[in-house]
Amino acid sequence: MPILSQVDIKPLQPERFDRVLSHESYSIFVEAMGKARSVFRGRRVWNVNSTGKGGGVAEMLTSLIAYAQGIGVDARWVVIAGNPDFFEITKRIHNHLHGAEGDKGTLGEEQRSIYEEALAPNEEELLRLIDGEDVVILHDPQTAGLARGLVDKGIKVIWRCHVGLDTPNDIARGAWDFLRGYVSPAHRYVFSRRAFVWEKLAGEKLVVIPPSIDAFSPKNQDMPGSAVEAILVATGLMQGEASREAVFTEVHGGQGWVKRPTEMYGAGPFSANDRLVVQVSRWDRLKDPLGVMKGFVDHIAPVTDAHLVLAGPSVAAVSDDPEGKQVLDEVRAAWSRLDDEVAGRIHLACLPMDDGQENAAIVNALQRKATVIVQKSLAEGFGLTVAEGMFKSKPVVASRIGGIQDQIEDGVSGMLIDDAGDLEAYGMAVGRLLADPALIETMGTAARARVLDRFLGPRHLTQYLEVCTELLNEG
Ligand code: UDP
Repeated sequence: MPILSQVDIKPLQPERFDRVLSHESYSIFVEAMGKARSVFRGRRVWNVNSTGKGGGVAEMLTSLIAYAQGIGVDARWVVIAGNPDFFEITKRIHNHLHGAEGDKGTLGEEQRSIYEEALAPNEEELLRLIDGEDVVILHDPQTAGLARGLVDKGIKVIWRCHVGLDTPNDIARGAWDFLRGYVSPAHRYVFSRRAFVWEKLAGEKLVVIPPSIDAFSPKNQDMPGSAVEAILVATGLMQGEASREAVFTEVHGGQGWVKRPTEMYGAGPFSANDRLVVQVSRWDRLKDPLGVMKGFVDHIAPVTDAHLVLAGPSVAAVSDDPEGKQVLDEVRAAWSRLDDEVAGRIHLACLPMDDGQENAAIVNALQRKATVIVQKSLAEGFGLTVAEGMFKSKPVVASRIGGIQDQIEDGVSGMLIDDAGDLEAYGMAVGRLLADPALIETMGTAARARVLDRFLGPRHLTQYLEVCTELLNEG
């Protein structure tokens, strides 16, 4: 029985970016594509992570691998397996890397044994799949322990860290100490921003590559208003009559339908006329769903007619995140203690995850239906949801942390809250936007321009290809 599962990705043609990129950006991309074809002839690029769906990493891999294949690079994706103890530890590491205590557990010798024992069979199988000419990109702490075995076999290894924090604390340093020995053998360490780079890692191996979104995926593709409404009704997020327009364009061009129900808690479905403040996130304390709700109740609901939607994946679906159900339960319990009036304006939604494209189309529709998008995270590597909202010409109110700061220019292409815990400041920013449709419009327009300029796949892919080329040229 294989332990690793391979995620099947089909190629996408990168030429379509001609339609959205500036002439100059597209030319740079075309040149990079040409180089990549020759550098990667006869080699494969393996991406290794710990989940095929749910969360930002899976989201990005799905699209980058497809375009890499479209360019002519044999890019692959394998997902490691682990037991519940392993995922408990890797979730702890994830929280610690964000400077948070998480489950308050430790990272010591016992955890090291569990971590290494779970990775050992994955490594064995990986080594059977991979050839000496290949390049391996290991994503995040879950796979860091695989680096040494691969490097020892002469394979080129990049370790890609998608998480980080601006000002490290002792908790984060503890996680770095736990991981450093696993990570250091890799030939390159890729971080999303300069500030995330750990202490005591070899400087010459460091590379900074910000993430990106896919302009054409079901998550971000253009969607007529009639489809937005039909999709929201079809899945039960919005009240209304079912129609035949709950459709989207699938990744490879066919027509997809939204038909699976969203599990609705809180006030149940909203109505078509409601103005929505929306946060889409995994059910994770670092996304602060309780804070988003409390800030709405105390500072937004009293002065506006808006409704709040907190949407996240169905908690049964995300296998590497044991905290999801707990966090959702906390949010539901907090909702049940609210006064009726405000409770009737707060909608909690667990989106179906059985079909990733359907899920993405629902997120797309919800982000497009939003009047204001929020991402009030307490820690954030990048925050793809921010770029997704901005790309849809929405004003995003988000915490001034992590990669969010690289995306939003405060007051121009969105609004940043200096202190992520300051519920009044968050409420005032959202309130200001809700009171000023012209501001919503100008910020939304600037937001879209910003994403077109900096956060689409071609820039990201070009940077990856450069790193791989450099590595392979080192012999
Ligand atoms: N997402 C989704 N369905 C959900 C919740 C989240 O598709 O129910 C997506 C979201 O649209 C984004 C990604 O998951 O593309 C989350 O990435 P982000 O960088 O914002 O946070 P992460 O989950 O990686 O911490």
